[in-house]
Amino acid sequence: MMKNKRVELVKGDITSLEVDAIVNAANSSLLGGGGVDGAIHKAAGPELYKECEGLKGCATGEAKITRGYGLKAKHVIHTVGPVWYGGYRDEHVTLASCYQASLSIAKKNKIKTIAFPGISTGVYGFPKDLAALIAVNESNRFLKKNAYPEKVIFVAYDDESYETYRKLLDQ
Ligand code: ADP
Repeated sequence: MMKNKRVELVKGDITSLEVDAIVNAANSSLLGGGGVDGAIHKAAGPELYKECEGLKGCATGEAKITRGYGLKAKHVIHTVGPVWYGGYRDEHVTLASCYQASLSIAKKNKIKTIAFPGISTGVYGFPKDLAALIAVNESNRFLKKNAYPEKVIFVAYDDESYETYRKLLDQ
């Protein structure tokens, strides 16, 4: 289906993936929350929380790595997406930075496979179609210049997100 074999789309729960790293849509405290963050902490267990405590938070648009503990994924890359304020605060720039920062950490750690949820597209309210466009563009840009990560997997949690990514990747 997809010409570019370094980019994949799957539907479902990111916590079930057996990959080198899954990305967490964290908040700046890195101490857990709802949505995908809550699901990741629940599946990883209390050791993840302990390691996150030691990181002393993370700025918006940046990323930090931990181990995966109870997850099938070896690592979690925690990135803090922007809250959507209608597009007036350069949210698209910050979201692009989340993808670049996460992919740079993956490269540094020689991570072969990395899976992204739709950063900022839940409680943070970023429009899903624009977020998916940024996710795909930033990933393609990074992959062109770097050997690691070898593969980026976009994880769509619902049908609507799946269709949005599919249209972008099918071209
Ligand atoms: P944010 O605060 O960055 O908006 P959320 O966790 O509220 O983060 O939502 C981010 C995206 O992750 C949303 O599109 C949501 O549907 C999706 N999501 C929620 N739970 C999971 C999960 N277990 N696996 C993959 N994606 C998920």
